[in-house]
Amino acid sequence: MTHWKKLTNPNYIGSYAFNPGEEKPVTIKTVGQEEVQNPDGGKESCIVAHFVQPEKPLILNKTNCKSIEKLAGTPDIEQWPGVGIILYVQRVKAFGELTDAVRIRPVKPFICSDCGGIITGTNGKTHQEIKDYTAKKYGRPLCPDCAKAAAAKEGK
Ligand SMILES: [Zn+2]
Repeated sequence: MTHWKKLTNPNYIGSYAFNPGEEKPVTIKTVGQEEVQNPDGGKESCIVAHFVQPEKPLILNKTNCKSIEKLAGTPDIEQWPGVGIILYVQRVKAFGELTDAVRIRPVKPFICSDCGGIITGTNGKTHQEIKDYTAKKYGRPLCPDCAKAAAAKEGK
């Protein structure tokens, strides 16, 4: 179960970290059982995912573990590093109240065709917009860094 207090723990990604409608495409670096310090001082053992990108770690509840299992194609958390996921915020009912929870989209993020990394949003543009823009301009989907390099190299 996810205590609502965990959703507001500043040491972990929560709905507070998202702008309205924002999606965060991230790559899983590690997943494991960790002691989580609650804001009220208590400690609890949780499954926590860390990411390659400079995002805070995410406490994984059952729903999100199932989503990653589907995207990774395996329930084995040791196989999850390297898997790309898209985080977003969904309004859910928990303990009889509506609250915002971080969820994982059932689709894979877009991959940069030059570096193989995940295409993230930048400068107020979503990852979808970056992907569409670069695919049109350079003929292939590129991450913001590779798009910059391509602009310099290809003079576009
Ligand atoms: Zn790239």
